[in-house]
Amino acid sequence: VIEIKDLYKSFGNLKVLNGFNLKLMEGENLVLMGKSGSGKSVMIKCLIGLMEPDSGSIEVLGNDILKLKQQELDELRTEIGFLFQGSALYDSMTVRENLEFPMRRHTNKVDLKNTDELVLEALESVGLASAIDLMPAELSGGMQRRVALARALILKPKIILYDEPTTGLDPITAKEIILLMMSIQKKYKTSSLIITHDVDCARVISNRMILLLNGINYAEGTFKELSSSKDPKVQAFFK
Ligand code: ATP
Ligand code: MG
Repeated sequence: VIEIKDLYKSFGNLKVLNGFNLKLMEGENLVLMGKSGSGKSVMIKCLIGLMEPDSGSIEVLGNDILKLKQQELDELRTEIGFLFQGSALYDSMTVRENLEFPMRRHTNKVDLKNTDELVLEALESVGLASAIDLMPAELSGGMQRRVALARALILKPKIILYDEPTTGLDPITAKEIILLMMSIQKKYKTSSLIITHDVDCARVISNRMILLLNGINYAEGTFKELSSSKDPKVQAFFK
């Protein structure tokens, strides 16, 4: 469902991506790990057409991202759910309004008469139907993350991109979020790209992993293969 080939991106003298490759298969949970500043967010921005790479190719659900017109890109984005780093809910909107927001932007995909139903269904998927009229500030960190997750899946996307889904949560809440991601995967049959520093998260959820170092895929494999690697640079990811 995603294929990135030979992606290069520099900012002045700073080479961030240096021939990065990534393939996400249908139904897969692919975990991407990389140090802070290694270019994970830059890669995601290129992937959803928010940033132009210097060279390389990006295919999402059979579309060449770099050749799409703005409207085609907007349509394609309805197939991609995005869980932003740190939840990123709109503080001045209720939970319901936060969830309605992506639907109002993509009226081509959603019949607006059904918004109530879709909001409720998404909230039920994350176990938070009762919070529908609360403000984000009234929710715990774990609940906010659940709402963000509900918002990411409200348009029933084929792909969900998770940027640090468990960061900033206590270990028990983090575990709950991971289990929830897995149940959503099952229910909505999504393919997921998960950016994380959380070794537990990677262990539980990944079918396959990519380690990003110096702008390239330094290593790829299953959690088991990589976590038992003798290479000190690979080991460093699992500490
Ligand atoms: P983190 O784990 O902290 O989120 P990251 O892997 O997501 O890190 P990026 O945000 O992709 O890191 O940044 C990679 C590098 O690119 C950083 O050195 C950053 O300063 C630089 N960078 C990102 N965006 C820009 C930009 N628009 N202009 C200049 N430099 C940028
Ligand atoms: Mg980042």
